[in-house]
Amino acid sequence: MSQQTQNIMKKISLGKVILNIGVGKSGEPLEIAKAAIGQIVEGKPNKRNAKEAQRDWGVRKGEPIGIMITLRGKDATTLLKKLLEAKGNQIKEKSFDNEGNVSFGILEHIDIPGIKYPEHEMALTYDKLPCDFGSEHRWVRGICDLLIVDGDYAFVVDYKTGSNKYPDPKQLRLMALMVFTHFPEVNKIKGGLMFVLKNSFLMEEYHRKDMDKSWGMFEQPLKRLENSYETDVWEAKPTPLCGWCSVDSCDHWKPRRRY
Ligand code: SF4
Repeated sequence: MSQQTQNIMKKISLGKVILNIGVGKSGEPLEIAKAAIGQIVEGKPNKRNAKEAQRDWGVRKGEPIGIMITLRGKDATTLLKKLLEAKGNQIKEKSFDNEGNVSFGILEHIDIPGIKYPEHEMALTYDKLPCDFGSEHRWVRGICDLLIVDGDYAFVVDYKTGSNKYPDPKQLRLMALMVFTHFPEVNKIKGGLMFVLKNSFLMEEYHRKDMDKSWGMFEQPLKRLENSYETDVWEAKPTPLCGWCSVDSCDHWKPRRRY
C-alpha cells in the first residue's frame, strides 16, 4: 500500500454537494427552479439573493434570483453519481480548484439519469390492470407528455399551453395511478403541470400506498358519468370554462371573456 493511501488525511472523501440553479429573476421563474430542484432531490431548497443591483437586467440588490440546496452523506454521493452520469462521467480539468472543490453545470435538469418516456401511452382495464393503449378492453387511458422512471421514483410532467388560472391536477393523479400500475417498481411519483407560456409550475406528490385513496377521489364523478350514460341524461355542470364551451344552447353558456 502506498504512503498516499495510508495517510487518512490524503484519502479522498466527499464533504458536501451544493446544487444551485440561478434564474436571474424572482417570481415565477424562481418557483419553476424550485420545482425543478424538487424533481431532483428531497429537502428544502433556500433562495439565493442578488449581492448587488444589476440595472441592465432589472435586478435589485437582495432580490432572490436563484435556488440552492446542500446535501451531505449518502444523499450527496447518490446525487453526485447521477450528476456525473449526466456529464457522461467526464469533467474538465479546469472544473477542479486547488482546495478540492469541483464545479460543473448541467444544461437541462432532465439530462439527469432516469429512463425517459416522452409521449408515453398508458391504459388500464375496468379491473385497473395494465393493457395496451389501443386495447378493446381499455377503460381509462392517457398520454403522458414526459415520464422519467428512476428506480422506485418517477416524474410525470404535463405541458400546458393555455392559462394557468384554473389548474386541474386531477389528470396528474390519474396519470400517476396509471404509472404505478404499469411500473410496479415505482413507489413515489412527483407530478407537475407546466404552463409553458405562463412560466408557472404546479407540483404534486403521489405515493403507492395511497393508490386506493386516489382512486376513491374519482368514484363520485365516475358514478355520475355511468348514470348519465345509462339514462342518457347529461346534467350541465358549470365551470369557469363555460365561456370556452361550444354548446351555446346550454343555460350556463356565456360569451368567452377576454383575459
Ligand atoms: S356551457 Fe358547456 S361546459 Fe358549461 S355547463 Fe353548459 S355544457 Fe357544460
